[in-house]
Amino acid sequence: MKPIVAVVGRPNVGKSTLVNRIAQTSDAIVHESRGVTRDRSYYDADWCGHEFTLVDTGGIEPMKSEDIFSASIRDQALAAAEEADVILFVVDGSVGVTEEDESVARMIKRAKKPTFLLVNKLDNPDREQERLWEFYSLGVGDPIAVSALHGHGTGDLLDDVVALL
Ligand code: GDP
Ligand code: MG
Repeated sequence: MKPIVAVVGRPNVGKSTLVNRIAQTSDAIVHESRGVTRDRSYYDADWCGHEFTLVDTGGIEPMKSEDIFSASIRDQALAAAEEADVILFVVDGSVGVTEEDESVARMIKRAKKPTFLLVNKLDNPDREQERLWEFYSLGVGDPIAVSALHGHGTGDLLDDVVALL
């Protein structure tokens, strides 16, 4: 079985954009296969000859109750974290730390897996480094600036990810 890299985080932080970017920039043709649960999508990916399975936890549907909604995010993060070899925890650098981020972070810490904390939507990384600092409070390691939309930081990230696989 290929190693699993799971992309987790609250809705709208850019998880699917990141997954699409990694899929497009990887060496192999990527195909989506139905996941074992309906809320997670699995992709075959490849970076510099290192094959892995990329998991997008993007299928979380908005629910009526805020509490159920948050519980769903936590369940997704937990399930993805448990099956992952490496976790990509995505947060939104244009918004800052939210309660939902903190909730996901608690789950991730329990999983005790290698985790990269990706501060996404930093489209001008040279000007936005100071936005990284507050994300240290999540307690999951050094925040890494990325822009899933423009691709800043994603190549270096993949080098570091596959080094752990
Ligand atoms: P998900 O719910 O976490 O999967 O988030 P999506 O990938 O669907 O992205 C949510 C929104 O954020 C979309 O409108 C994206 O275009 C936008 N987005 C994602 N990555 C970036 C980024 O690096 N920079 C900016 N400015 N917007 C982004
Ligand atoms: Mg998504």
